[in-house]
Amino acid sequence: MRRPRSSEAFKEYSYVLNFKNSEKIIRKLEGNLGRVALIFPNSYSIASGSLAWSWIQTLLMQRGLHVQRFFYERWFEKFYSMEDQVPLDEFPIWLFTFQFENDLLNIAEMLLKKGIPLSIYERKPYHPIVIIGGPVTLFNNELIDEIADFVFIGDLECNADEFAKALGHDDKDEIVKHLLDIKQIYSKRYGKLVFSNCIGTLSPVPVAHFITPYSPYKNKLLVELGRGCIRRCAFCVTGYTKKPVKFASLDEVIEVFERYQDFEFGLISATITDYPYLERLLEYLERKNVRFSVSSMRADKINEKLLRLLKTTEHHSFTIAPEGISQKLRDVMLKDLTTEELITALELGRKVGFKQVKFYYIIGLEEEDGKDYAEFFEFLKTVINMRYQEISISINPLVPKPFTPFESRKMIDKKSYEERVAFIRKNIPKKVKADFESYKLSKMQYEISHLKGTQTIEYLREVFKNKK
Ligand code: SF4
Repeated sequence: MRRPRSSEAFKEYSYVLNFKNSEKIIRKLEGNLGRVALIFPNSYSIASGSLAWSWIQTLLMQRGLHVQRFFYERWFEKFYSMEDQVPLDEFPIWLFTFQFENDLLNIAEMLLKKGIPLSIYERKPYHPIVIIGGPVTLFNNELIDEIADFVFIGDLECNADEFAKALGHDDKDEIVKHLLDIKQIYSKRYGKLVFSNCIGTLSPVPVAHFITPYSPYKNKLLVELGRGCIRRCAFCVTGYTKKPVKFASLDEVIEVFERYQDFEFGLISATITDYPYLERLLEYLERKNVRFSVSSMRADKINEKLLRLLKTTEHHSFTIAPEGISQKLRDVMLKDLTTEELITALELGRKVGFKQVKFYYIIGLEEEDGKDYAEFFEFLKTVINMRYQEISISINPLVPKPFTPFESRKMIDKKSYEERVAFIRKNIPKKVKADFESYKLSKMQYEISHLKGTQTIEYLREVFKNKK
């Protein structure tokens, strides 16, 4: 750990150090081969709420590699590592975990700030090796194939041994040569265009190695129960790309709870209510008085016991995602969720004592009309009549994604979205708090999700040209 000289650098260093000091390390990781920067290209809060950031580090360090974590802030210049506050440019291997489309801009900004050309065709041998993996590569691997020297497709568990071995070499040519032997690697730069995808098993069960109060899961130990989703909602890539769906075995999950008895847990799964051993899991959690929160659950499968147990940890609020503002639109979205099921879930929520509820909605489908909105406002009145004290709704424009049934749809234009937002604002009951996703960020997500190869480079050059 070296203290920086300039006041700007010291501010950045202290900012990173503050997060490091907030972390309680649950399992010490050791590894001394190579030097890998594992970069989550978003804020610390988002990075620490993603099990991937911790689990990838765990998988690689268990195999002897030396890996330090990094995150992104727009004002950063040096980018210090979490573990030892070493500047990013001292690392010869940069491994990005690419979880959200808009993080592409942050990846590009980090490269540019460190003097690394965006295009693989302009890089020199002395530049670090840039590897990008993560969920976005599953539905559009070509999006970053002219930025990443190597694209890692799918889950690390499948080829973790080979990957760690390749990165552990001292010589860059050796690293490149061994990476090219890995089935999940795709590299336009080095001419390896044939690859195979793989979704890893959840054995051993992925568990974070630290907790922090700055995570959205606030001091909870993240445990992954399921990967992929058995549903096929038409707007969501998860159901169409992460196949086959994997679930952790109940016995192994219980072993984790037993091993870390003193902790509260954040249970990660596309929807916890589809976990096949949910009933037995809940029995265990209740019997052992384990406190937990969940990443997501479906209203049609919510049961009283789950809500009651969640209530002991979460106290006030629970969240459900009807997505469609009417039954017709939920059907168009293949959401497979009825108004009756929503009402039943809300009644159960009140019964166990929740006073606040939050809903997620998607608007901007071409099928939408006045009747859908009338049904929406009526539904909100029903929720008010259930005597929830706080009702909030999050409204998002539909972002049609490749690889889904909506891939050929166009995104709603800005003016129409703003008209619908104004209409909702005017007509929702006063008691309901609404927040609306920015059109600009959603449009960016839509554009990025459809980019390929050189288009990505051109898109980024345009964005950064306009930023100057
Ligand atoms: S929206 Fe939720 S339930 Fe639907 S496919 Fe995606 S993860 Fe599954």
